[in-house]
Amino acid sequence: MSTLVRGEGLGQKGEGIARVMGMPVFIPGLLPGEDALVRLNDRKTSYARGELMTLLQPSPQRRDPFCPAFGICGGCHLQHLDYEAGIAWKRDYVRQLFRHQGGLDVDVRDTIPSEELHGVRNKVQLPFASVDEELCLGFYAARSHRVIPIASCPMQSPLANKALRIFKDLLPDLKTSVYNERLRTGMLRHLILRTDRDDDQIQITLVVNDDQVPGLTSLIPAVREQLPEMNGLLLNINRAAGNKIMSNTYHLMWGSSLLEDRIGSYTYRMTPGSFFQTNRFLTETLYETALEMVDLQGNESVVDLYCGVGTISLYLARRAAMVYGVELYPQAIVEARQNAMANGIDNVKFIVGAAESMFDDLLAHEVPDLVLVDPPRRGCDTALLQAIMKARIPKIVYISCNPATLVRDAIFLCSAGYEMSAVQPVDMFPWTEHIECCCSFTRI
Ligand code: SAH
Repeated sequence: MSTLVRGEGLGQKGEGIARVMGMPVFIPGLLPGEDALVRLNDRKTSYARGELMTLLQPSPQRRDPFCPAFGICGGCHLQHLDYEAGIAWKRDYVRQLFRHQGGLDVDVRDTIPSEELHGVRNKVQLPFASVDEELCLGFYAARSHRVIPIASCPMQSPLANKALRIFKDLLPDLKTSVYNERLRTGMLRHLILRTDRDDDQIQITLVVNDDQVPGLTSLIPAVREQLPEMNGLLLNINRAAGNKIMSNTYHLMWGSSLLEDRIGSYTYRMTPGSFFQTNRFLTETLYETALEMVDLQGNESVVDLYCGVGTISLYLARRAAMVYGVELYPQAIVEARQNAMANGIDNVKFIVGAAESMFDDLLAHEVPDLVLVDPPRRGCDTALLQAIMKARIPKIVYISCNPATLVRDAIFLCSAGYEMSAVQPVDMFPWTEHIECCCSFTRI
């Protein structure tokens, strides 16, 4: 039985929201203003999920998705919506979240669009699958570990798609098996491709369930011939169950374990396990946006928490007296130090450890004028926010990849004597529901 609904808004995952007798229903693919017949297939006490059966009246903002895997693949959820409308939704969504979740009336600026709309991603993690005895690579379907085989992805850089094709053709020659998550048997788990901004270098990591892949060495000449852009081939040995894609154990099979990239006038080198922003065209804009909010005079001491391979730290170092970068992943700190040296920057110090525990140690040594945070999706630890508040840090610049935790942390800071600036969304993840934001907090 179908139910007639009208789309009222979009939810956190970009799914349509409608109401049936007052109860919210989440319907993937439905856009605001659209009338549709849906099937309610998952009723809970306070909400339901529905499946779009017949679209009766399409929105003028509806567009044909450019990817054949749209709706099946768990990747981009907003390809059916006009790009401009999508980034306007991101701005409104953040504004609403601050209002409803935080009770904060915050000025949210227009989202800065992605410079390019296709081929922007510089990193992809593709699970292996065996479909009808054929070796496949693909993406997980939404909310599952079922692999949707793909031949290429329009959001990846062209070089990554080329590498995907080559590996898909060559790997069956190894006659090795695909990893089975349930049984924990089989060899091939993931193929991870990382390209640089110019798309002329590629770092390849094969995640496997054993420390050797029989025959792989003999495959290298063929890969090199077809893929001269390959800069390094690494094995990542991951025998663990669970969702973590890579372990910390790597074997370099060929070339270098470091891929070099540039953002603005800086160059960075990183190994596969270190974080690096994934939109190869927009990272500079994100960092410039953060720097505008930082607004340094040159004599300040600054802390860059969650600093990765020192990307923002180096940007800050040119504008401050001293920068301290803190990062949990030890190898990223090794690279951060090398990156500082390679860029001729000597007023930075990098520290390994959790931001929430290292920050107190840092304070014993020096109280910074400014703290920049760029945490993962879970946001900042309460202990860190408390330490920032107690130390009466004059200013915090916050880069966030998850508006929900940004709002949570903003509530804390605003109730602890900080005033919040306007929020600037930057569309680092075009066509997806993901929203990157930048804002600052000043002590009043
Ligand atoms: N600012 C960097 C990295 C941001 S991603 C850039 O733009 O490139 C977030 C980083 O935080 C990752 O490198 C991750 O390893 C690190 N991280 C995660 N939890 C952490 C913690 N508790 N303390 C410090 N760093 C952490």
